[in-house]
Amino acid sequence: MIEQEFRRMDEAVRACERCELHRKRTQAVFGMGNPFSELMVIGEGPGEEEDRQGLPFVGKSGQLLDRILAAGGFSRNENVYIANIVKCRPPDNREPSPEERSACFPYLEEQIRMIRPSIIILLGSTALKGLLDPDGKITRVRGKWQMWNDIWVMPTYHPSALLRNPELKKDTWEDIKEVVRKYRELVDPKHLAERPI
Ligand code: SF4
Repeated sequence: MIEQEFRRMDEAVRACERCELHRKRTQAVFGMGNPFSELMVIGEGPGEEEDRQGLPFVGKSGQLLDRILAAGGFSRNENVYIANIVKCRPPDNREPSPEERSACFPYLEEQIRMIRPSIIILLGSTALKGLLDPDGKITRVRGKWQMWNDIWVMPTYHPSALLRNPELKKDTWEDIKEVVRKYRELVDPKHLAERPI
């Protein structure tokens, strides 16, 4: 059922012309991962490689994201679903405008409604602005639990920020440890039990 619904939405997104971002995309990027996951990761929007492959987080940032998730016992092939605030690549990797974020938000909202995750990780400022607070600052709220429609939300840095400034990795690891603790509390008490967190 959910797979069918996602296929239908994927087709709608690929044909979507609701905002200006459709003009320069190669293809829209709907999302990727296990739609039955209790953990959802939300990023900003497709970059060059994502636009080319039609998949989220497949460039250098994506490889780093996979390593970060793996350190917390998570994988997009198993227990994570990954999506973005906007489904089409903003030209020159600019930040999506508030209008573009609003135009695309119903797709993300529907994805979240279908997946019904227990926990969401927000990656970076655009994800924070798109889901929680249009004036939000990631440096101010990262590492602090937020709530959105009864879902626990952890804002943290976007992997591309970690590539630019590796000193932020320490804070990100603290945020992921918080996610692991919450995941144990809400989903699976034995998650990553073999590793001290
Ligand atoms: Fe449609 Fe979203 Fe792409 Fe804009 S970014 S054209 S709203 S799918």
